[in-house]
Amino acid sequence: MDTAAGLQAVQPPPDPAASSLSAQPPVGYSHRLTPTPAGWARLARWCVWVEPAAASGAIAPAAAASLESRWQQAVNAALASWAEELVIVRVTDPAQAQVLVRRQRPPLRELGGRLRASHGRASLQVLEVQRAGRWRLEPRVEVLISPGQRQLAIQATALHELGHAFGLWGHSDDPADALAAVPGRQPVVALTARDRDTLRWLQAQPSRFGQPLPAPAAAPVPVQP
Ligand SMILES: [Zn+2]
Repeated sequence: MDTAAGLQAVQPPPDPAASSLSAQPPVGYSHRLTPTPAGWARLARWCVWVEPAAASGAIAPAAAASLESRWQQAVNAALASWAEELVIVRVTDPAQAQVLVRRQRPPLRELGGRLRASHGRASLQVLEVQRAGRWRLEPRVEVLISPGQRQLAIQATALHELGHAFGLWGHSDDPADALAAVPGRQPVVALTARDRDTLRWLQAQPSRFGQPLPAPAAAPVPVQP
């Protein structure tokens, strides 16, 4: 059984401002990403837990089963897109996962004095987790994906929110990208070259995530921003 300590809740930046004074042109939209308080949240391998379909009893209406199946297919397709670029391992035990995908409409959120609804949300915690007897720094991301959309829209939402989960904490200014701040009219269900370039840039950054921590396991220290 894994244990976790040193919780720190972090919200993704809703609309990060671009700021790059470097003479080098930015890779993709990497200049629009924000690292977590503990640095760039990248891992060599991601364990992902997806909420399973509810046990189908005799009284479960066919319509509900069909809704669940549509959600599962959409999330699976989005995960398959990211698996073209990342090592993703599906796990059945949520405690083993760094990314947890739940079939749930995100609660309303106040933004600019107004309550705002959304179909997806990703929220990050930075944890110290004990795995195989060693304490390691890990991201843990809860991804809420509403089932109340057309299948392609669910897939686009899942592709976008999973991008945040896999460390892309920021948005692209191009509506064609999976991580677009403002999506275009057509659901984006495939990664663009800019999405891939930005993710590869992220994966090449130095990171403390996934590394064994020097502190003794008996006294985990909360992560400082
Ligand atoms: Zn987003």
